[in-house]
Parts: sequence; structure tokens; C-alpha cells
Amino acid sequence: MSAIPYRQYICHACGYLYDEALGDPESGLMAGTRYEDIPNDWACPLCGVTRADFSLYEAPSLDALRAQAAGDAPVKARHGAAGVVIVGGGRAGWQMVEALRARDAHVPITLVSACGADVYDKPLLSVAVARGLDPARMVRETGTDAARRLSVRLLAHTRAVRICPDTRTLRTTRGPVRYDRLVLAHGAQAALPPTLPARHVWRVNHLGAYQKLRAALGDAPKDVVIVGAGLVGSELANDLALGGHRITLLDTQTSPLARWPSDQAGQPLLDAWKALPITFLGGVQVASVEKLGLRYRIITTSGQVLEADQVVAATGLVTPSRLASSAALAWEQGIAVEAETLRTSDARIHALGDCITVNGQASRFIEPIARQARTIAADIGGAAPVPYVPKVAPVRVKTSSLPMTLQGIAFTG
Ligand SMILES: Cc1cc2nc3c(=O)[nH]c(=O)nc-3n(C[C@H](O)[C@H](O)[C@H](O)COP(=O)(O)OP(=O)(O)OC[C@H]3O[C@@H](n4cnc5c(N)ncnc54)[C@H](O)[C@@H]3O)c2cc1C
Repeated sequence: MSAIPYRQYICHACGYLYDEALGDPESGLMAGTRYEDIPNDWACPLCGVTRADFSLYEAPSLDALRAQAAGDAPVKARHGAAGVVIVGGGRAGWQMVEALRARDAHVPITLVSACGADVYDKPLLSVAVARGLDPARMVRETGTDAARRLSVRLLAHTRAVRICPDTRTLRTTRGPVRYDRLVLAHGAQAALPPTLPARHVWRVNHLGAYQKLRAALGDAPKDVVIVGAGLVGSELANDLALGGHRITLLDTQTSPLARWPSDQAGQPLLDAWKALPITFLGGVQVASVEKLGLRYRIITTSGQVLEADQVVAATGLVTPSRLASSAALAWEQGIAVEAETLRTSDARIHALGDCITVNGQASRFIEPIARQARTIAADIGGAAPVPYVPKVAPVRVKTSSLPMTLQGIAFTG
């Protein structure tokens, strides 16, 4: 066994971490495969770029960020004591912290997060079973540790409820927080049709909910109905079926991944699923879901009756409008931001990640987030502008029975 400790490498396109200790067994890289030994044709399991787009990763320490900041263009704007307040402890919130720290080691940063703000890779939630990942061990760094490392005041389990632009105050469930600059990174949430009552259906958009779903499924095979055969629904169906669960996947469209032509995506996927316990019901709408003892009965508008141990809704995402509307921010099915600076209609408030729309388009992917954070950090710091350029990136569909790279359509979950 080699004495050299295993290292991690980060994908510059999407932020996926290749961990030498774990390898990428699904793509044929055994646990313990060193980065140098990865074949040139290996593709990032999240976004499809090659090994050359990875570099050695060590979570940057505050000292490293300070050293980097010293070499950067000096920050022109001086910050008052309130500093920058960020709402959201997901990928966008933490990338925002790192981008700010890379420019300014001293500006006070407060991060307000409804969850614990633990750092994890959300795209892994729909491939965790096939990769043998224990949901309890998917946190890469706790929110508390990340906050300490980056010298951030973390208000975890705290919900932002209102913005008062006149007094530059954010109202939260733990009291008011003053800001000089506010960055909204609060993501989007599951869009549930009225026929899918929240108390009966799981939504997989956060690690906490996913952990509970996996605990409810347990190890014995279960009947699972998944409503919605877009990217997340199809990936979950594939993954839970590989774990032995019997899946019925429903969609109003006649094939899965219906945003792409059926012969390029849906039909090949259905063919690849023939060996798995997945039944796809297309052209179907759910009329009702009710609980009968420990199970659920799902009735479709055409009268089909299904029974399941668990029901999962993968019916898309919607950005909650409450915070934005409290500050009268421009809104276009998401927080409307100016493309180049990612400012909202209030110049002191920026936004990034799943909660924004640029030119009316949401882009709910990992890759743009780091670029968006750099743009905002430059704008807040008064440094030379780093204009954000929206790109239509290829979409990597992580259905391990048939991984696919599809072209150019916005990801709305
Ligand atoms: C199963 C799954 C698979 C995916 N696969 C891929 C993939 O393969 N490739 C890809 O590019 N993208 C993928 N995505 C999308 C990608 O994960 C998201 O685009 C990205 O994680 C969004 O990050 P975010 O920080 O904007 O939002 P979130 O991760 O949703 O974070 C939002 C944060 O805000 C907090 N919050 C919310 N409301 C409030 C409030 N009022 N006050 C305070 N805090 C609040 C939340 O607690 C959370 O911490 C996938 C998503 C899912 C669900």
C-alpha cells in the first residue's frame, strides 16, 4: 500500500471532487485510483469534462485566501461594520463566501441559513445508492467548520423573512441583521402541484430530506412512485432501482427527459432500463395521493390506481418570492439580475445560484455558480468588473444504466 496520503481533485467546470480514496467505481476507477492513473478518456461523472480540467484541491484556509487577496487588485470600497450578509448556505452561499474572502480577508461576512449550511455535493443525491454512499456521511465539511475556516459569522437554522432596504436590515427568525451589501443565495424549492400534498410526498432538493427518504426506504426493497421524469426524477428512478426498489415513474409526457427529442434521450433510456425494476407510465397525471395505513394510494386522472410505500415528487423547482417581494426587487419567475453584474434592481443587493433569472432564464446548474460568485465579489469590492457570461452548457444525465450528455437546455429540476 502506498504511504502517500490520498488526495482530492476538483473539477473546474462543476466543482465535483474526485477523491482518490473513493475512486469512481461506476466509471471503472477502483477505490484508491490515483489521479495520475486516470485514463484520458475518463469523464467527470457530473459534467462530463476530462481529467485535464481537474486540479489538486485542498479546502482553502483563511491564511491561503489572505495570501491570495494580498496579490489581487486592492479592494477599493471600504466596508462598514455591517459588512456583507449572505442568505443561503448551499453551494451558492459558500462559493460567495470564498470569492469574497479571496478579495478581502477582513470584510465582515454573516451567512444566514435556514439549514445547518453543511457543505456537500447536491448532484450526488441522485446517484448515491449506485455509488454506495452513506447519506449520513455525505457532508464534506460542517457549516460550523466552514464558517470557522473562512472567518464567517454563521446564523444556522435561521430563516430570512423580510428585507427592509431603507434601513438595510434583514429580518430573520433570530432577529434583525444589518447589512452594507446583501447577497441572496437562497435557492429554489420543489414546485408541488396541488394534487401532491406536501405531507405525503418526498422532495429531493436538500441533503436533510434525502437522508430521511433513505431512512424511510430502509434496506428491504420497497414500492416507490416517482412523479416527474425530468433529470432528477429519472436519475432517482435509476438509482433507487439499482438499490433494489421497485419504481413506478410517472410523467405527463409520453417519455422520460421529454425536453429532449425522444430518440436521443427518453427511448434509449427506457431501453437501458429494461433490466431494472422500473415501470414508466407516460401521458399520466396524478389526481390524488392518500395515505392508507403505512402505504399510499395514488390515483391518476385516467383512473389508474397505484399503491406505494413511498411517493417522491420530482416536479420541478420554483423560486420563493417572499424575500424579493418584501424589497420590491424586479422579478421574472426568479430574482431578476443584471447579466453583467448580477445586481438585482436594488444596487446593494446581488443574487446568484438557483434563485436567479438572467434575461428571464433560470440556470439551475452547479457550473455557473463559481463564476457568478466571482462577478459579485468584484462588484461588491469595487474592483475591475468581472462580467458574468451566461453559457448554455451540456447537461450530463447521471442515469448510470445509460449516462448521457445532452445539449443545451435550462435545468429546472
Ligand atoms: C438531485 C439533484 C441532482 C442534481 N444534479 C446536478 C448535476 O448533475 N449537475 C448540475 O450542474 N446541477 C445539478 N443539480 C442542481 C445543483 O445541485 C443546484 O443548481 C445547486 O446545488 C444550487 O445551489 P444553491 O446554493 O443556489 O441552492 P441550494 O442548494 O438550494 O441552497 C439554498 C440554501 O438557502 C437556504 N435557504 C433557503 N431559504 C432560505 C431563507 N429564507 N433564509 C435563509 N436560508 C434559506 C437553504 O437552507 C440552503 O442552505 C442537481 C440538483 C438536485 C436536487
